Amino acid sequence: MYFSLYFSSIFLNNFPEMCYNKFGSGRFEKSDLIKVKKVDFLEGLIHSIETFGTVDGPGTRYVVFVKGCPMRCQYCHNPDTWETVGATRMTPEQILDDYERYKEFYHGGGITVTGGEPLVQIDFLIELFELAKTRDIHTCLDTSGIMFRRNNPELLAKYDRLMKSTDLIMLDIKHIDPEEHKKLTAQPIDNILDFLSYLDEKEKTIWIRHVLVPGITLIPEYLERLGYYIGQFKHIKALDVLPYHSMGKTKYEQLGIDYVLKDVPEATKEQAIEARGIIIEAMKKRRHDMGE
Ligand code: SF4
Repeated sequence: MYFSLYFSSIFLNNFPEMCYNKFGSGRFEKSDLIKVKKVDFLEGLIHSIETFGTVDGPGTRYVVFVKGCPMRCQYCHNPDTWETVGATRMTPEQILDDYERYKEFYHGGGITVTGGEPLVQIDFLIELFELAKTRDIHTCLDTSGIMFRRNNPELLAKYDRLMKSTDLIMLDIKHIDPEEHKKLTAQPIDNILDFLSYLDEKEKTIWIRHVLVPGITLIPEYLERLGYYIGQFKHIKALDVLPYHSMGKTKYEQLGIDYVLKDVPEATKEQAIEARGIIIEAMKKRRHDMGE
């Protein structure tokens, strides 16, 4: 996932950022996604835990970063979460017991699972969120939606079950243009947009996140298309526009991965505000065209 020092949001104020990582990281291979499905789902493959998160959902939150992600977003500043090996294994009970140690800080907050891509470990996520709800903890899923498949009944049943214990979904839409999306993330957009439709059908509370990358997503035509597309969904309650920054560059050097965006300038707070305005106007236009 992607976080920023600055949030440009419809409904939310800007948040400062604090991060406290407890654990280390490892390497990823494509076959690891299959391996993840075979592990004991009472254990999650955890990259790190942030005990005082203020940018990953409402209030102050306990944020769990999981390992494993099939996306390869060029601006990802957590490439050390892509790979599953080297993960710390934790059960839902262990995570929530740790949460309880800090629970006095989480008034108005809760637990957020991000990554990496949390839905790679959907069985673990179900266990974790269901247990969290028995303890009356607010649950937030920060996802790219890339793992969603509507045509797999067994998997769809898992999503249906997970949604019952998920209070909020923060969905990242990386690029609205299918070709550009594939260039930016190495993955197609179809299932991500279908996941958005699914969430709206389920009447889930959705926050959309969009990273503004100069020359890639910071183009008025794409911002308008994004706004016009998401404007059709009734359950989007917030829009965060995050200016691209290159803070993750050092990790790429450490991991020996080429940083494709090395010549791309960072986006500014002012550009994020302007971009948010373009997206919101297009959302309004869509709603107007729908007769609302
Ligand atoms: S979805 Fe993209 S930004 Fe999020 S962890 Fe995966 S590669 Fe990184």
